[in-house]
Order: sequence, then structure tokens, then C-alpha cells
Amino acid sequence: MPYKGKTMAKNIAYHVTRPGNKHGDPSVTIPVPEDLLTVPGIPTRPNDVSFFSREYPLENMALEESASAAWARDQRNNHSPEARAFAEEHQHHMEPIVEWVKNSGNLEPTGVPTGADVTAAIRQKARELGYGEVGFTTNDRHYVYQSRKPVLKGGLPNAICLALEQDYVKTQSIPSMAAEETHFGTYFNQGGLSVELTDFIRSLGYSVQVSGPTWHYGPMIPMFVEAGLGQLGANGQLLSPHFGSRARLQIIFTDANVTHDKPIDYGIHQFCQECQVCVNRCPGRALMPEKVWYRGVEKNKLIFKRCRPVMARYIGCGICMKVCPIQKYGMQPVMEHYVATGGQILGKGTDNLEGYTLADKGYFGTGQLPILGRQFFDMPHGRSEDWLLLEFRDKLQETAGDASVDSDQMWSEFRQRVETSLDKQTVVVDMGMDRGL
Ligand code: SF4
Ligand code: SF4
Repeated sequence: MPYKGKTMAKNIAYHVTRPGNKHGDPSVTIPVPEDLLTVPGIPTRPNDVSFFSREYPLENMALEESASAAWARDQRNNHSPEARAFAEEHQHHMEPIVEWVKNSGNLEPTGVPTGADVTAAIRQKARELGYGEVGFTTNDRHYVYQSRKPVLKGGLPNAICLALEQDYVKTQSIPSMAAEETHFGTYFNQGGLSVELTDFIRSLGYSVQVSGPTWHYGPMIPMFVEAGLGQLGANGQLLSPHFGSRARLQIIFTDANVTHDKPIDYGIHQFCQECQVCVNRCPGRALMPEKVWYRGVEKNKLIFKRCRPVMARYIGCGICMKVCPIQKYGMQPVMEHYVATGGQILGKGTDNLEGYTLADKGYFGTGQLPILGRQFFDMPHGRSEDWLLLEFRDKLQETAGDASVDSDQMWSEFRQRVETSLDKQTVVVDMGMDRGL
């Protein structure tokens, strides 16, 4: 519907045409306004990316922040027995899937390659299986966790990026158990689909190694952006054309003979600076309005220590996903509205997009945020074994010279706690995080 306000429409630089959401749907055409142009993909400084990946390698948050992972599980369990029961059931279902993912690199090809380019065949198979976005790019080893470098196979130069959409209606109820059901249910579905897709790739004569669900070799969004499947939003999530961040990501590394896609500027890098809805609506004030250069990439950097305490107590939170107009309406209508209205953000300023309910605090409409207080954000930081060592050091200092203290007992308790914390790092970590060891 044409916009009737008295504003000048924005100039369109070009249109991007993408396949429809579901396999067989007509393609969609997205206008990219001139004033939102930056670069295809995301601005990067390749020398900085290489330097940080070599000298300060990435590490899995489930290990790097294992102290707060254990703390968050306890918080979640105390706040919601229902969420605890659901998470335990999910872990039970995911365990065999994670084992399969971890061992997928050992699967042998079952066919013989013909030498033909198999990009279209793999894309079609993935779309038939239900993946909403499928793209091909380089297996970028700058984005591998230090602890997983030894188990990432060599000789698989390509990354097949696969996004599986989660349920629309349930996602709009974030934060809720219904939203958790579709969030974790989508992880579960990824397991079966990737078995089918890797069977197909192996039948073409090629090797595979699967990253995700729950067991990842590293952050995946950079490769999705490079494959043209969207751009990074201010909420730290991939904003893809049809469902924004309402999707779970997975990568298959392979030596299959494929042609790489190219990164695309959909205008999102700049659009987020105009929109800012997630930044303004985050209950933890964990999202930054301004972009910074971080490890060689220009982005809005999420503040982890302000996010996790909210996720732990409010069923995984995810409000930054729920309030994003690209997630709720899709990129095409949002960009068309921006062009037609001279720069307005579809849904911004409406409770329909921005409103949410926190179980113990009630409803927060546009312009309203909960007050959480400083103590709300107190939590342990870093690796659990390091955190326990710091606690042990403090206890030694407090009890120095106290003859009534049994130091053997203290040492034994410390050792027991470290062993327990290391054991916990092998469970399938919940709340959207990766598994530790
Ligand atoms: S998950 Fe919640 S607390 Fe964390 S960044 Fe998103 S909105 Fe903020
Ligand atoms: S809510 Fe707005 S600013 Fe945040 S990720 Fe979505 S489009 Fe970007």
C-alpha cells in the first residue's frame, strides 16, 4: 500500500532478488535505499582479523565463561522449575545428536565424484529438506575456537551455510516457554535434517564435517554474511531476508565441488543505526547504540555480562530477537516502508512490535523498561576453575593464622569443586549456548 504521508521517498540504489522463503515460493525483490549503503557483508580490516585470530584465538563461551554458565543454570532452575524440566528433557534428546555432529567428520563418502559442480544439487536438496537460507562460501579458519582447532579436519575448503527458520507465532511470545519450545525444537530438527543432507553430499562422492547444532567449531555468522545470506544486526544476530534472526544456524564443511556466493549489502549495517529498537528495548541495557571496531570487524558489540543475568532469569530472554522489525515483518516490507516513508522504521514506536512481558514484573510497552538494579548483574566471571581458584585464594587469606581451620579439608573441598565444575562442562549447555568440552 502506498504511503500517504508528506515525506520524500528515498532513492533506491538497487534491488536484491532472493529465492522465496519456502522451497517453491516465488522469489522476492528487496529495495536497497541509497542512504543505507555501506559495503557488501560487513566492514572488516583483514589484517586485524588475522592478527586477533592468531594471537588472541576465539574460545567457546561455554568454556571461557563456564563460571557464569553454571551460575545461570542454577538461576534458571530456581526461577522456573518448568524451564528446568524442559531443559533437562532437551539435553536428553540432544545428546545423541551432539555425538553424531562431533563424529560427522569420520563419515566416508559413499559415491564417486563426477567432477561436475554440485552447488545447485546441494542447494536444491537443502531447500527441499526445509532450510530457508542456503549459501556457499570459504571455510574461514579465522573463526575457529582454540579448543576445537585440533578436531577440525583439514582438506574441507568450503562451508555450506544453512539457516532453519523457527516458528513465527511462538517466537513473538518471547520470553516464554512456547518460544523456548520452538528455539530448542529447531535445534532438534537440525539434527535429523543434517543427517539427510550429509548423506546426500556423501553420495555425490564428498566428505563432510558438521558444525551445529549445539556443537560448533566457532562463530558462524561471519560465514553466513560472506555467503550473502544477510548482515549482522545490532542485536548481534544474523538478519536474513525472510525471517531476520528467527532461525538457527548450522554449517557443513566439505570438499564438494561448489561455487561460492558473494556477500551482499542489503543496507542492514546502516539500517540498524536508524532503527535501534533492540538497543532501546533490551531489559539488560546490553546492546550498544554505536558501532565499534572489535577484532577487525565494525559492529554493535553486545555486553555479555549485562545479557546473561537477564537470559538466566527470563527464560532465555531473546527480546532483542522479538522486537526486531526484520524478524517480525521480513526485510522486503521493512525496506519498502523505509523507502516509501522517507526513512521510517516499520513498527517502531508501536507496542505490537516493542511490547513484552517479564514474568515477575509485568508488561512493558514502548518507552518503558524494567529497573533491575546493580545486584541483579552480580555473577561469577571467566572459567569456573579460575573463579574457584580466586575464591580459594580469598578464603586462604581470610583464614590465615586461624588454628581452628582444617587446611586439608579446605584443600579437599576445593579439589572436589574443581572436578565437579570440569564435569559440568561436558553437558549439553542450554540457553542457546554451545557445549563446552
Ligand atoms: S537476550 Fe535479552 S538481555 Fe540479552 S541482549 Fe537480547 S534483549 Fe538484551
Ligand atoms: S531491532 Fe533494529 S537495530 Fe536491532 S537488529 Fe533489528 S533492525 Fe537492527
